[in-house]
Amino acid sequence: MVVPEARPFAKTGGLADVSGALPQALARLGHRVTLVMPRYRGIEPAPDDTRTPFDLAIGPQHQPIEFVERRIGKGLRAIFVDAPSLFDRPGLYGVGNEDFADNWYRFAVLSLAALERARSEGKAPSAIHAHDWQAGLVPVYLQTRFAADPVLAGVPSIFTIHNLAFQGLFAPSILPLLGLGWELMHVDALEFWGKVSYLKGGINFSRKITTVSPTYAREILTPELGFGFDGVLARRAADLVGILNGIDTDAWNPETDPYLPEPFSASRMDGKRTAKRELLETLGLGVDNASMTRPLIGLVSRLTDQKGFDLIESAAERLMALDASWAMLGSGEPRYERFWTALAALHRGRVGVKIGFDERLAHLTGGGSDLFLMPSRFEPCGLNQMYSLRYGTLPIVRATGGLDDTVLDADEGGAKGTGFKFRDYSPDALVEAVARALAAYREPRRWRALQRTAMRQDHSWDVSAREYVKVYREAGRKRH
Ligand code: ADP
Repeated sequence: MVVPEARPFAKTGGLADVSGALPQALARLGHRVTLVMPRYRGIEPAPDDTRTPFDLAIGPQHQPIEFVERRIGKGLRAIFVDAPSLFDRPGLYGVGNEDFADNWYRFAVLSLAALERARSEGKAPSAIHAHDWQAGLVPVYLQTRFAADPVLAGVPSIFTIHNLAFQGLFAPSILPLLGLGWELMHVDALEFWGKVSYLKGGINFSRKITTVSPTYAREILTPELGFGFDGVLARRAADLVGILNGIDTDAWNPETDPYLPEPFSASRMDGKRTAKRELLETLGLGVDNASMTRPLIGLVSRLTDQKGFDLIESAAERLMALDASWAMLGSGEPRYERFWTALAALHRGRVGVKIGFDERLAHLTGGGSDLFLMPSRFEPCGLNQMYSLRYGTLPIVRATGGLDDTVLDADEGGAKGTGFKFRDYSPDALVEAVARALAAYREPRRWRALQRTAMRQDHSWDVSAREYVKVYREAGRKRH
């Protein structure tokens, strides 16, 4: 499993949650999994690590690296690719909103190193699973450089798209530096509108392609959400599968969550009030009776248009007129950071904002809020709505991608309802959904029933992991 980030080692988004949990779930099913990722700054050595130096020939260059191998559980090990000049930096992909200029090289090194390591172990893995553009060259190298390799030839590769918006686009002049031939500068190979796309490489050279929800798997075949890749994907539609992400039910469990002041469960909800109080306090919102009874809407997100922050901005005045408080944790585009900071200043005591990345506060927001808002323009899967469900925090979501697959509208789903959904990407539709949610909150019995249904939803990894195993097997049977 080749990934650019994985919990608990390094995380910028949902991908890290998935690549942290899926290998564990596979190992629980009895498979042996090796996770390969960069040794970023902050991944400290452990006493039992074994280090193996390796001279990686990449294009005309020799890149010295070290493989750091670590056992992380039964059937499960991590191999960190250690190259301090490439990965020991203050960010994973860049600093602030600025990507590192050599990302094309850093992630080619990751992909190639993973394959070289597999080869040097002398025994072919039964499948190689690469995630997102950063690992997109894995299937490419496998089908070119290693096509006739005694160990790796014929090993099936699976490529997972977590977000089609990130395409790994670079100038064609990098091809010789990667040791890849010019014939790959072709629309059926790596070429995407005059550039090289690692994402396209992953799509075109893998045997099977997965994405992270059934609805997103359909949506990316359309021009609206295909980001220019709808045609490329349509050609491979027979090999494209949507598998809903699971969630790590140990890390996100209100009965054991160490970030909550008190545990709670569907039958003992007092702890949720304590979490609300602590959340209000943390964000400098009052904890008097009025604040405690007023519905609290949480958000934990990257601040981007993808996540619907432009929509919130357009609807802000009308949203603020509703009787609710807001708890927003996020970081991202400076304009949205400024917007929320200003909103908090304008509505002191009702809007609490923390700009930054804060794991503890993410859990507290999921646990202590009454409602959780995700008005995404598109959402491959989305994890926070599933975390919220477990914490009895009813999600308000736009019906797109995985959000549509995991939330059933309370007014449409009757007793099965778990949240509130809207379809149009418009301020009107957003405000209407939030207003409906607040109306439901004012009916305590109905609210309790919705919370109970939400908390019963099972989004554990075991089901999804089995689906991945099926895909690995199919890929193994299939000739590309
Ligand atoms: P994406 O991967 O597109 O950002 P997901 O909903 O799939 O969105 O996953 C986001 C993950 O990152 C969740 O685990 C969420 O809790 C976490 N997260 C996002 N922003 C923050 C933040 N500011 N602080 C802490 N965790 C965050």
